[in-house]
Amino acid sequence: MRIALIAHDEKKAEMIEFAKTHKDLLAQCELTGTGTTGKLIKQHVGLNVQALLSGPIGGDQQIGSLVATQNLDMIIFMRDPLTAQAHEPDIAALLRVCDVHNVPLATNRKSAEILMAYVKLCLEEQNDSSNS
Ligand code: PGA
Repeated sequence: MRIALIAHDEKKAEMIEFAKTHKDLLAQCELTGTGTTGKLIKQHVGLNVQALLSGPIGGDQQIGSLVATQNLDMIIFMRDPLTAQAHEPDIAALLRVCDVHNVPLATNRKSAEILMAYVKLCLEEQNDSSNS
């Protein structure tokens, strides 16, 4: 399971808390993230995250390219809906490319929890089939 993690500044603390809560599951996944989000998760949670460029300087576009080339299975994107972002066009493009390629995308905590329940199910199935 290849997952990208992105959090806007106002949502970074929530992302860290989310990653701590789901550390065991996330540790079984291949993680990428935008620059600052990825580094913070590595630092504060101890998960192995490939940190790309920071969102505002192209990180969202890098993640979009992983979606377009079928190299990503889902995105957890803690968006801040109350603050204008300089890279709004990149964010819109990322959301669009997920819809083009039917890649699951959570943009708030509750939908992120639902995706993690799905990840848990997939990993359990994977473990069951490798044990039988
Ligand atoms: P950041 O990027 O993790 O580098 O802060 C997130 C974003 O704003 O898209």
